[in-house]
Amino acid sequence: MRIGSAGVQQEPPVTQSAEAVDKLRAALRHGVVKAAHSRDTAPGTMPGTIPCTPSRTRILVAGGGYVGMYTAIRLQQQLRRELQRGEAEIVVVSPTPYMTYQPFLPEAAAGSISPRHVVVPLRRVLHGCKIVVGEVRSVDHARRTAAFTTLASDEEGTGAIPIGYHELVLAPGSVSRTLPVPGLAEYAIGFKTVEEAIGLRNHVIEQMDIASSTREPALRDAALTFVVVGGGYAGVEALAELEDMARYATRYYHNLRPEDLRWVLVEASDRILPEVGAAMGTYTIRELRARNIDVRLGTRLDSCENRVAVLSDGSRLPTRTVVWTAGVRPAPVLAATDLPLNEHGRLRCTARLTVEGSEHAWSAGDAAAVPDVTADEPGTVCAPNAQHAVRQTKVLAENIVASLRGQPLKTYAHKYVGSVASLGLHKGVAHVYGRKLKGYPAWLMHRAYHLSRMPTFNRKARVLAEWILSGLFTREIVSLGSLEHPRAEFELAAGGVPSRPLARHHEDPPLSARERKRRQAPPPPAGPSAAPAPGDDGPGVLPDGTPGGTPGEDLRRKDPNGPGAGPATGDG
Ligand SMILES: Cc1cc2nc3c(=O)[nH]c(=O)nc-3n(C[C@H](O)[C@H](O)[C@H](O)COP(=O)(O)OP(=O)(O)OC[C@H]3O[C@@H](n4cnc5c(N)ncnc54)[C@H](O)[C@@H]3O)c2cc1C
Repeated sequence: MRIGSAGVQQEPPVTQSAEAVDKLRAALRHGVVKAAHSRDTAPGTMPGTIPCTPSRTRILVAGGGYVGMYTAIRLQQQLRRELQRGEAEIVVVSPTPYMTYQPFLPEAAAGSISPRHVVVPLRRVLHGCKIVVGEVRSVDHARRTAAFTTLASDEEGTGAIPIGYHELVLAPGSVSRTLPVPGLAEYAIGFKTVEEAIGLRNHVIEQMDIASSTREPALRDAALTFVVVGGGYAGVEALAELEDMARYATRYYHNLRPEDLRWVLVEASDRILPEVGAAMGTYTIRELRARNIDVRLGTRLDSCENRVAVLSDGSRLPTRTVVWTAGVRPAPVLAATDLPLNEHGRLRCTARLTVEGSEHAWSAGDAAAVPDVTADEPGTVCAPNAQHAVRQTKVLAENIVASLRGQPLKTYAHKYVGSVASLGLHKGVAHVYGRKLKGYPAWLMHRAYHLSRMPTFNRKARVLAEWILSGLFTREIVSLGSLEHPRAEFELAAGGVPSRPLARHHEDPPLSARERKRRQAPPPPAGPSAAPAPGDDGPGVLPDGTPGGTPGEDLRRKDPNGPGAGPATGDG
C-alpha cells in the first residue's frame, strides 16, 4: 500500500529551514509545542518514510483497542482546534477497523449479544483521526519512526511502510499466553477476539449437531466434551456462558440431554476467578460444580494431540474442543522496538504514562507496566485489565496535551475496586468496593456495569435492545458456521474442492490425495448396517426415523473438523 490507500496524505519531507522554524513559532503561539523539534532527531527523516511536516504535530497511536480508541477520542476532543487548523493530526494504526469490548465476548458467544454490537467502528467514533487498518511491525523511537504493514502492502509485497511521528502512543495490548503444550497450536482456540467468540459458539452448536447425528459413541462423546483451560474471568465466563447456552439448546435435540454434555475447567492454581476474591472464587466453584461442570484445580493440560486432552492428573479426555485462556502476554511488536521492557515483556512506564527514559513515547493498558502508586508493596504494577486501561487513557491523553503545551504532567493513581463476572443467564458473582454479591443481583450488576462502560450511546442502545428482545423471546441456538466458508457451496457446485478453513488451529492435518478423492465421491447407498435397528432411537437417527448423516457425509458437507475456525463474517 502506498500512502494514499492508507488514508495518510503524502506531505513534503521535514526540513530545518528558516521557513519551518517560523511555522514552528506560529504553532507555539497557538499553544502547540513542537515537542519533537526540541530534540536532536527530526521525526521520520529516514528515506521512504511518510514524513512529518514541521507545522503539524503527528501523534501516532498504535492499537485500536481500549487504550488506542479512548486515547484517540480524548485527544481529538482536547486538540479539536489544533486538528481543525491543521496543526495536529492523529493517526491510528489498528489491525481491525473496530475496537472490541472484550468483557462482552462471553455474552456474544452465548448469543445474548450480536457480534456487531460488541465492537465499535473506529471510523465512526474517531472522525477527527486518520485510521490506517494495518499493523505496526517495528518502532525506531530514536528516529521517531514506526513501520507498519497493511493488507494492501502485504498483497503488493512492498514491505513495511515507515511513518514519522512526533508523539507515539504504543497500545498494542496483549495476546494469549501459550505454553509449549503438544497439539495446542493445532487444536486449541483462544478467547480474546470477537472472531474466536463467535467461532466457538458456532463450533459448540455444531458439535451438538454432530453428536446428535452420529452413530459412533466415541465420536459422540468427544463432540460433547468441552475443555476450557484457565480459571481467570475470560475462561470462567466463556465456559459458564457457553455451557448455559448449550444446556438450553439440548431441549431442541431429540437425542441430547443436558447431562450428556461434559464441560471441564482446568486450572493450574488452587483457585479460580482471583479478580473477585477468595470467597467469591470458592462460591463460583460450588456454583459451577452444581451445574455438573468438572472443575479441576491444581491441574494442567499436558497435551491435546490427536484430539485427546491429557491432563496432569493422568486423565485422558477425547475432545474436539480445547479453549485456551491461560493468561496473556504483551503483544509481540513490543520486542521490535528500541523502548525498554520489563522481565515480562511489558513496556517500562512511569506513573505519568511515559515510557521510562524516553521522551514523546507513551503507553498504557495491557502492554504497559505502569507502577501502581496505590499499592502497599513497592514495585507493584497495574494488572492488565480494562478497569486500569480505561482510566489510564484519561490521564494519558491529558498528559500528552499537557506536554505539547509545556504544562506539568499528572500521575495515574487508581485503586482496584474489584470485579463482576457473569456465570450464564441470571447468574453471576461480584466483589466491588468490598461488597460481595452472587446469583441474580451480581448478574444484574454485571450487565448494568458493562452497559454503562460500553462505548457510545449507539452501542449501549443496541445492546440493551438485544437484551430486552432476548428476554421476550427464546434464545437463538442456530449455528452459522458455514458463514465462515461462504464459497464452499459454490466451489462444490462448480466442481472444485471446497477450500479448507484458513485458521489452522481447527483443522485436521492436511488430507491425503486419496482421502480428498474419497470425500468428493458421491455418498454410498446406505447398506443394511447403516439402517437403524427397529425402535432404535439413539444417535444417528433423525426425528422422522431416517438415518442420520455418517461422519463422512458430515465432513464433506460441513467440515466438522473445522467449524468455528476462521474469521466470523456475520452474526452467529
Ligand atoms: C474475554 C475477556 C473478558 C474480559 N473481561 C474483563 C472484565 O470483565 N473486566 C476487566 O477489567 N477486564 C476484562 N478483560 C481484559 C480487558 O479487556 C483488557 O485488559 C483490555 O482490553 C486492555 O486494553 P488494551 O487497549 O491494552 O488492549 P486491547 O483492548 O486488547 O487492544 C489492543 C489493540 O491493539 C491492536 N494491536 C495488536 N498488535 C498491534 C500492532 N502490532 N499494531 C497495531 N495494533 C496492534 C489489537 O488488535 C487491539 O485492537 C477481559 C478480556 C477478555 C479477553
